[in-house]
Amino acid sequence: MSGLGKGITAASIGRLLMNKGYRVTAIKIDPYINIDAGLMSPFQHGEVYVLKDGGEVDLDLGNYERFLDVELTRDHNITTGKVYSTVIDKERKGEYLGKTVQIIPHITDEIKRRIRQVSRTGGCEICLIEVGGTVGDIESMPFLEAMRQLKYEESGNIFFVHVTLAPSTMDGEQKTKPTQHSVKEMRGLGLQPDMIAVRCQKPLLPETKHKIAHFCDVPVEAVISCHDAKDIYRVPLQLEEGGLTDYLMKAMRLFPLEERRDWDLLVEKMDAIKERVSMAIVGKYTAGSQCTDPMEDAYLSIREALKHAGIEVGVWPDITWIDSEELEAGAPEIMLREFDGILVPGGFGARGTEGKIKAIQYARERKVPYLGICFGMQLAVVEFARNVCDLEDANSTEFGETPHPVIALLPEQEGLREMGATMRLGNYPAHLEEGSLAHRIYRATNIVERHRHRYEVNPAYIGVIEEKGMRFSGTNGDLMEILEIPGHPFYFGSQFHPEMKSRPGRPSPPFLAFVRAMQEKRARRS
Ligand code: GLN
Repeated sequence: MSGLGKGITAASIGRLLMNKGYRVTAIKIDPYINIDAGLMSPFQHGEVYVLKDGGEVDLDLGNYERFLDVELTRDHNITTGKVYSTVIDKERKGEYLGKTVQIIPHITDEIKRRIRQVSRTGGCEICLIEVGGTVGDIESMPFLEAMRQLKYEESGNIFFVHVTLAPSTMDGEQKTKPTQHSVKEMRGLGLQPDMIAVRCQKPLLPETKHKIAHFCDVPVEAVISCHDAKDIYRVPLQLEEGGLTDYLMKAMRLFPLEERRDWDLLVEKMDAIKERVSMAIVGKYTAGSQCTDPMEDAYLSIREALKHAGIEVGVWPDITWIDSEELEAGAPEIMLREFDGILVPGGFGARGTEGKIKAIQYARERKVPYLGICFGMQLAVVEFARNVCDLEDANSTEFGETPHPVIALLPEQEGLREMGATMRLGNYPAHLEEGSLAHRIYRATNIVERHRHRYEVNPAYIGVIEEKGMRFSGTNGDLMEILEIPGHPFYFGSQFHPEMKSRPGRPSPPFLAFVRAMQEKRARRS
């Protein structure tokens, strides 16, 4: 079922195979009817992750990119919507030659075609295929049937891992019934798992393992304990210790090509962190003003990027999620006083923006390190225009009419306003000005980062804004990509989403610089 950690389990398996020298890629199957995640609410589904080709996909793809250190494309996310729309298009073109078009074989064939295409063209040796949903769901049926056929057709080259749950009773007994039942359900569909990865709170007890092995027809070494981990980056190590890699490699007749240790070293570095900084993320999708465990998934990649930077610097960023609507009514001097840094992430729509603007003003005036991402950059321009350039009521046209549209749709985007059609999505280059903060932190003059937005800094206002000391140090022709304020300890906004390219062991430069700036601020304080 969802929320069990299937994605992390799969990504960890991939990482373990990668550690043995194999090239691994991943496909995520989402059985929903949506074509992609572009129009889905991050409140319900977690963040919309953006790929280099502009694909707007499920956040699991982000985990795959981070665990496997790869760059995926939209073809790596297969949805019911994509499968059906291809089949229906083909039907309309007459490509089925008058046949009745059916779930089996036409839909299942299309699913297999997509899987084969990705796994054969991606330059990988092993392809993980994560089937979302729950066994028995109507939506996932055609996908499971396609998996059954695939195992038959690619005999010997497919290995099924079934992720199940073993809940504990009050007195700590691990219950195996849910696992037994879902395996039974799977078998009813013609699928026999080769390995059962059991999610549980505490490590699986030997007797639980034996029981599962016995009832579900797998060797006891194929029952793997996936107990709760302190951090998701520990999961690969836990699975390795539990014997997963050995069993899987033997079963698939794979030999280790090398022994990579970089992931272990990363976890060691993470464990050695002693210093902490405290920071605020001022966003909309937070529940309550000062919660520490909010809608984490809505800003997943940002959290991960902060972690990557933190591991590199040796500092743990403690995040407090501030609800921008509460800040609208509250006093930033009180609500933001304790923080070493403030981050305003991406966002859409007017709700809560005035609170974000207050936070940005506070960070600018009090010289608190500030990182503004996408919306967080646009609102930094609005704040600066209003409070420094005296452009009263300056705003983004995203919220309607304004006397000073400092953020606006560029002419070529006007007229194309319908949802989803006008966004600048995926990789775009930016040119960085020599000697700027941007140039220093990227150590490059040309970069490529991922985008997901509709509005831009209005070129008509760049002159007045720069005159007052804000600098657009990263550009792509007429498009403003990065802003900074020279003289401020750290004030950096980007129109793109640097968090999407951050990797464990290879943190994103703006995040790295932001964490360092917070560390310096903390040092000055104490
Ligand atoms: N709402 C803004 C835009 O569409 C910012 C989008 C974002 O932060 N991802 O341009």
